[in-house]
Amino acid sequence: MSEVVTPINLLGHSPEQLSNLVAQWGGKPFRARQLQRWIHQRGVDDFDQMTDLARDFRQQLAEHCIIQASEVVHEQRSADGTRKWLFDVGQNNSVETVFIPEDDRGTLCISSQAGCTVACPFCSTGYQGFNRNLTAAEIIGQLWHARRAVMADLLTARTDGGATPPDRVISNVVMMGMGEPLLNYSQVLIALKLMLDDNSYGLSRRRVTVSTSGVVPFMDKLAEECPVALAVSLHAPNDALRDRLVPLNKKYPLKELLAACNRYLKHAPRDFITFEYIMLDGINDLDEHADQLLAIAREVKCKFNLIPFNPFPQSGLKRSSHARVREFAQRLMEGGVVTTVRKTRGDDIDAACGQLAGDIRDRTRIDQRMPQRAQIILKQEP
Ligand code: SAH
Ligand code: SF4
Repeated sequence: MSEVVTPINLLGHSPEQLSNLVAQWGGKPFRARQLQRWIHQRGVDDFDQMTDLARDFRQQLAEHCIIQASEVVHEQRSADGTRKWLFDVGQNNSVETVFIPEDDRGTLCISSQAGCTVACPFCSTGYQGFNRNLTAAEIIGQLWHARRAVMADLLTARTDGGATPPDRVISNVVMMGMGEPLLNYSQVLIALKLMLDDNSYGLSRRRVTVSTSGVVPFMDKLAEECPVALAVSLHAPNDALRDRLVPLNKKYPLKELLAACNRYLKHAPRDFITFEYIMLDGINDLDEHADQLLAIAREVKCKFNLIPFNPFPQSGLKRSSHARVREFAQRLMEGGVVTTVRKTRGDDIDAACGQLAGDIRDRTRIDQRMPQRAQIILKQEP
C-alpha cells in the first residue's frame, strides 16, 4: 500500500518557515519571498500561475504543498456595506470574519479560536464552550480570503465604470472575532507576522490590534515578540465585578493586568492601551463605575471604548440606554480620558460584536452546566 503523505499547507507558514522550506530544497532566500508574495499579495493558490518561479521549483511545490483557506459555507452583505463570511473549520465547527468599510479605512475582524474557554456571560462565543484553537493557516486564511473577495469587488466596480472606492481596501485588522487570541498564542503570532510582513500584507503595527480579556503572561510575550496595538477587554472597574464578567480575572486580577498594560506600553506602537468596556444596564454602567475607571486611567495611559451590549437570548442581560451610555462617556471625558462609543455595524446580518455565533456546537454543554450564568451575575450585583 502506498504511503499517504499530507501536503503542507503553505498558507500558514511564517516568512521564516517559508525560507527554511525553500532552503531545505536548495533554493535561494529570494525564492521564498517571491513565493510569499504570490500567496499573500496576489492571492494565488495555484502553483502553475506563479510564472516567475522556475518550472521544477513549481513542480516540487505542487507535489508536496497546497495553499488552502477554510471553505466558506455562508456569506452575507449588510445594507451598510459590511460583509460577513462563515468558514467551516471541520467537525461541525465554524468561525466568522467581518469586513467593515469606513470612509478612511477598511477593517477586518477575525477569529482566533472555535469557541472560547474564558466564558464571559455577555458573549455568545463564550456560551458555545471551547472547541479548538485555529491553526495559523485558518487565521491568516480569513484575511487571505477576505482580501481576494474585496479585491474582486473592486474589479467589478471598475468594470462598472466606478472609481476604486478607497474604503474597500483592508487597511486594519482587529482580532476581535471569536476566541481569545492570547490563548492561541503560537498560531496567532505566525498570523500576525504575516500581516505585518512587507512580502505579504504589509500592515502597520498600529493598524493591527489584538484584543484580549487579559492573559497576562502572553501580553508580555507579545510585547517582546510582536508588539501590535493592544485592546484590553476591561468591562469592569473592580475585581469583584470583573471576576463575574470576565472570569479570567480570578487568575489575573486587575492589579496584575494593569501592571502588564504598563509593561506592554514600553513596546507598543501606540502610547495608550484601548480599554474596551461593554455597557450592561444596571451592572457596570453606574456613575461610581465611571469614577473607578478614572482611577484606573490614572495608573495606565489609556482610552476607553464603550461598547453597547448586543443582546442575545440566553444572556439575560440588557444593553444600557443611549442616554446612560452618553452620560457615562461624558463623565469619563470630563475626567480627562478620551472615550469613544462603538458604532454598531452590520446589525442586519448579525455581524456586530458578540453576535458572531456561527454554528459552533456546544460540545462542552456549558448551557446545561451553567444555565443561569447571567442571572447569577444579576443577583450578585450589590
Ligand atoms: N477574546 C477577546 C477578543 C474577542 S471578543 C476579548 O475578549 O477581548 C472581542 C470584543 O467583543 C470584546 O471586547 C468583547 O467584550 C466584545 N463582546 C463580546 N460579546 C459582546 C456582546 N454581546 N456585545 C458587544 N460586545 C461584545
Ligand atoms: Fe472569549 Fe472574548 Fe467572548 Fe470573553 S468576550 S468569552 S474572552 S471571546
